[in-house]
Amino acid sequence: MHKGDGYESDPVLLPSVPVGLRRVLDLVVSGEATSRAEIARRSGLVRTTVGKQVDHLVGRGILQETESNESVRGRPPRVLTLSPEAGTVAVADVDTLASQVAIADLRGRVLARETVDVRIAAGPEIVLDTVTERLRGLLSECGHDVGRVRQVVMGLPAPVDFQRGYTARPTGMPGWAGYPVADELRKRFRCPALVDNDANLMALGEASQEQAETPLLCIKISAGVGAGIVTAGGQLYRGADGAAGDIGHIRATGGGDALCSCGNVGCLSALASRPAVLRRLGIPESTDEDPLHGVRVLAGRVADNEPNAVRALRQAGTDVGEIAAMLVAMYNPRTLVVGGPLSELRDDLLSGVRAVVYRRALALATSKITISTPRLGESAGIHGGIVLAIREVFSPQGIARMMVGSP
Ligand SMILES: [Zn+2]
Repeated sequence: MHKGDGYESDPVLLPSVPVGLRRVLDLVVSGEATSRAEIARRSGLVRTTVGKQVDHLVGRGILQETESNESVRGRPPRVLTLSPEAGTVAVADVDTLASQVAIADLRGRVLARETVDVRIAAGPEIVLDTVTERLRGLLSECGHDVGRVRQVVMGLPAPVDFQRGYTARPTGMPGWAGYPVADELRKRFRCPALVDNDANLMALGEASQEQAETPLLCIKISAGVGAGIVTAGGQLYRGADGAAGDIGHIRATGGGDALCSCGNVGCLSALASRPAVLRRLGIPESTDEDPLHGVRVLAGRVADNEPNAVRALRQAGTDVGEIAAMLVAMYNPRTLVVGGPLSELRDDLLSGVRAVVYRRALALATSKITISTPRLGESAGIHGGIVLAIREVFSPQGIARMMVGSP
């Protein structure tokens, strides 16, 4: 057994949680029931069982019971909600040039967030140190104890082995291959940690929006091009090894001999990623003062209607569209989201994707499809991380962990 890092991840040590308790918590967390009477009615559990489990959850500081403001005759009804003391989740969406970090409560409300200026090429130790320090800073700013963080989630711009919590063969990320990212986060926060692909988190964030329709396919254009797939049931489809959606190194139709960072030629990423588009226009990606210099210059040129800049965006849209049309034929998504900094500049990239998808994919697959940029904009990834973290917290194992008191 490992002692010393202060956190035991061995699930065998966790006691099993009564089905009744899980049912009670489920009804309150989902908002389906807010009182003991309602829980009994909806769950079919006898009132004494409901009472016992509610008392247990209130006693552990997970639920709170307060008097309702509603004016009714007699005793005011008592309302059950998640306690603000139940804990928080800490999420980082790491991109190549800058990262976003956020703290959310267990209802998914963002308590604090900020952008962190750290480059992925600095290597995992520096990125993890910086992200950890900022997450701890945010926790203290919003008055929450680091000991009450229930789950950490980190998104990385690379294919991720979700079970083992690291990236196996990233391109352009020196030092990251095989580095135990999830284990390191576990030690730092003394709670469970998950690592996932950034496009997966973006897809999950978008799919969790109220009006979103699934299946949902999300293509993220950033330092590379990646995709995330959310099934009709709202689950991420990661594939056998976590590599599903790693579309950046599929050979693009107009790929020619464009050299890619992976060593192959003609990959989609070598044509339509942010660095590829900037390189074609002769715009440097970053300066020492401004990591996002390239995107800002490109935004200015697009706003001025500079023909080369607009054309480069449209071409990237067409290149991505060719692959997107194949994916639409394969998965028949109800929603296709195209995200990343280039898609936010103007509609040219999106209309390029749209034109190819409608032309190439079959009518049945496109008759009801919605093609758009992320509703959540650049926050989509961080929101997806929060959704994933909270699902873990309220999984049977997560609840068991809460009940033994070690988050
Ligand atoms: Zn490649």
